[in-house]
Amino acid sequence: MGRVLIIGAGGVGTVVVNKVAQNHDVFTEIMLASRTKSKCDAIAEDVKKRTGVSVQTAKVDADNVPELVKLFKEFKPEIVINVALPYQDLTIMDACLECGISYLDTANYEPLDEAHFEYSWQWAYKERFEKAGITAILGCGFDPGVTSVYTAYAAKHHFDEIQYLDIVDCNAGNHHKAFATNFNPEINIREITQKGLYFENGQWVETKPLEIHKTLTYPRVGEFESYLLHHEELESLVKNFPTLKRARFWMTFGQEYLTHLRVIQNIGMSSIKPIDYNGQQIVPLQFLKAVLPNPQDLGENYEGETSIGCRIRGIKDGKERTYYVYNNCSHEEAYKETGAQGVSYTTGVPATIGAMMFLQGLWKKPGVFNVEEFNPDPFMDQLNKQGLPWHELFDIDLEL
Ligand code: NDP
Repeated sequence: MGRVLIIGAGGVGTVVVNKVAQNHDVFTEIMLASRTKSKCDAIAEDVKKRTGVSVQTAKVDADNVPELVKLFKEFKPEIVINVALPYQDLTIMDACLECGISYLDTANYEPLDEAHFEYSWQWAYKERFEKAGITAILGCGFDPGVTSVYTAYAAKHHFDEIQYLDIVDCNAGNHHKAFATNFNPEINIREITQKGLYFENGQWVETKPLEIHKTLTYPRVGEFESYLLHHEELESLVKNFPTLKRARFWMTFGQEYLTHLRVIQNIGMSSIKPIDYNGQQIVPLQFLKAVLPNPQDLGENYEGETSIGCRIRGIKDGKERTYYVYNNCSHEEAYKETGAQGVSYTTGVPATIGAMMFLQGLWKKPGVFNVEEFNPDPFMDQLNKQGLPWHELFDIDLEL
């Protein structure tokens, strides 16, 4: 049905390549390109063994538009799945525009020298994508991604008006390392050390980093301390669902993780300002990334599950209703199937489904869109088929 180019050969890229190969009827020609070609070759070899499907590989610097354009013109993909880093979003979108190719990512743009993310930079491409007749699907991982589709599905099928949204993200797994991040350490630490932010009564409310926390109970895995964070999907969800009176995002962290994080911050290792070291400019956080465990290597000993979902309160037929939709994903099962741990899996599977929706013509329209702007039904259907089944609870105590 279509040609797909995946950029980024990390944990998420590994899962995407596995899943597109498993859906070879939809993704007929597959290429994986990244900065380090040997990583692409190793993934392609493993995927060939697992699925029998051949994946082409290439080296590309995704910060370099002419290099991207050259690759796009050679391979001629219908869609590019960007699972490199958020720093590359705009250069890849520029190259897509130049070649008339559609685009999908899992994280919104961040400038390298400023720990700050928002959609404005990518929403600014809307008219140009419309004129070029191509589609950009933004934020198609789990959160953002599935959580946004869950919200759209709830609004479509279960509520007349959604009013209170709490996205709850629990990783109850154990990788048996003293400290490690589940996805790119640089991006992860930049996200968590920012001020908290949530939306209430038409306004954004700022908090100190990790200031607000609460014990929440997650299905099958139990109670975990959950911390209010700013997370990117809140920005588009409150815009696309204007009935929301409040929208918040919660993520669980263990005490051990938080202690390490505090030390990292106190000794200046989370800084993104370059410093002089023996006559060489280095960024402390980038140096830290180089010494921390690679998220891709956590899979082998990872036990337990993630549990991510949306807790929603609103009105149905004149009455208040509560609703909880969630998925639990086993790290062990993810590793067995793809060689990557659960956090990479829960991101890579939705990215694959989003690209599938595009190639099947179900999520295909000119412009730049967040995932909740498309029909959630075929995506929800595929979540059940592609390894991330979801469950619903009605009229329960949401704890929030
Ligand atoms: P990794 O760090 O494991 O992988 C990133 C990959 O991108 C690496 O292969 C890296 O190359 C490659 N890369 C980096 N810079 C360039 C460049 N200039 N040109 C070409 N390739 C480049 O990250 P993850 O796989 O953990 O995460 C991938 C993305 O997924 C991130 O954007 C992250 O924010 C997002 N994410 C989204 C989630 C969601 O639910 N929405 C959850 C988790 C992650 P090299 O190997 O040479 O370093």
